Amino acid sequence: MSKDSYSDFIDLCKKSIAERKSMEREPLADSVAVRSAQMGRLNTTLRRSIDNLEEELCRFEKNFVAAGGNVFWANSYKEVHEQMRAVIVEGKYRTATFIDSSDTLLFNELGMDYFMKDEKVTLCEEGQLQLMVADMMVADTGSLLLLNKDKDYLKALNNNAVNVFFVTIDRLLSCATYAEAYAKAAGDRGRKNTGIPFATFGGSPHCETIVFIVNNQRTELLSHKRQRQILSCLSCGRCEEVCPVDNVIGKEPYDNVFTGPTGRVMLPFMESLEEYRHIVFACTMCGRCEEVCPIMLPIRDMIMASRREFFEKGHIDSRIDGMLTKYRKYVMDRHKMNKSSWMKQQVFSSHLSHEIKDARQLPHFESKTFNEQYIEEHSK
Ligand code: SF4
Ligand code: SF4
Repeated sequence: MSKDSYSDFIDLCKKSIAERKSMEREPLADSVAVRSAQMGRLNTTLRRSIDNLEEELCRFEKNFVAAGGNVFWANSYKEVHEQMRAVIVEGKYRTATFIDSSDTLLFNELGMDYFMKDEKVTLCEEGQLQLMVADMMVADTGSLLLLNKDKDYLKALNNNAVNVFFVTIDRLLSCATYAEAYAKAAGDRGRKNTGIPFATFGGSPHCETIVFIVNNQRTELLSHKRQRQILSCLSCGRCEEVCPVDNVIGKEPYDNVFTGPTGRVMLPFMESLEEYRHIVFACTMCGRCEEVCPIMLPIRDMIMASRREFFEKGHIDSRIDGMLTKYRKYVMDRHKMNKSSWMKQQVFSSHLSHEIKDARQLPHFESKTFNEQYIEEHSK
């Protein structure tokens, strides 16, 4: 990071922290303080589904298959392509329709557009295959939750030859009771509490229905106690809209379909920590994302946990690590910290290489030591 971009980043941090302080005085209408208990319960149930993922997924599969549907499991997008190819070849399908493709990240993530072109399947209005992304799986009813859909849409599904749904393993509700709360949270943009229409669709013996349950690296997150909570994300996009860093850096540094605060948490695990460390550290900890998250996900906690792991796993230059160890030892020494600020500045600066000193603004020590400030405060 150059000196200029570093000072821009510091300015951005100061600005977003100041803005956050003013938000604390004037809370947003849907801030944590006034968000309904229903959303809290939804958060808990989504977290439980992630904690018991295997069990809940098996429950969904059992109920979906019992109703007449078919379930295909795919660990990666390549497995989705392989299994989809087998479906196309077996049924000799030549046409397909993408439903709401512009709305779904998952089609992009799986590269379905390119796949269909490679397989020479023509995309048209009323294709033999109807491809859709389901918003959620509901384990207790074995049905799929579809947002923004009405009864006419469901009729169209029943008329079609083969309905193929795609859903990722984390899109799981343990019981249908929470479907309405979920639709409300996902559609509750603009703080109007309007929610969005939804429908549930189960497997049926009268129309062929296939659901692809896709992992695509998401289980990498499961072993990380804090970061795994991001799997409950509703993909509503509110956090990205308000993030001051993302408003400056845009989507380009992510180079992925996942962007924003959620991408910041997911990508180091779904891709690699080394490749995405710049994204992990590009956060001012202002907390605006948490203020607007309908299910109150602790995004800062997750980013902090990733930063800690980054250091613990030694993804850092050994020379810099050595310098930081000396620095840490120095600032932890009470005796040394009671020296004059000039002296501390000299010693501190001598621990760092020119490379770092030239690229960064170093912190300045207070002119009075902690002891001096303490004595002054208590002698008043
Ligand atoms: S990710 Fe959240 S805490 Fe970090 S800068 Fe963006 S809004 Fe602030
Ligand atoms: S983390 Fe962001 S995208 Fe996910 S539910 Fe919260 S606000 Fe929406």
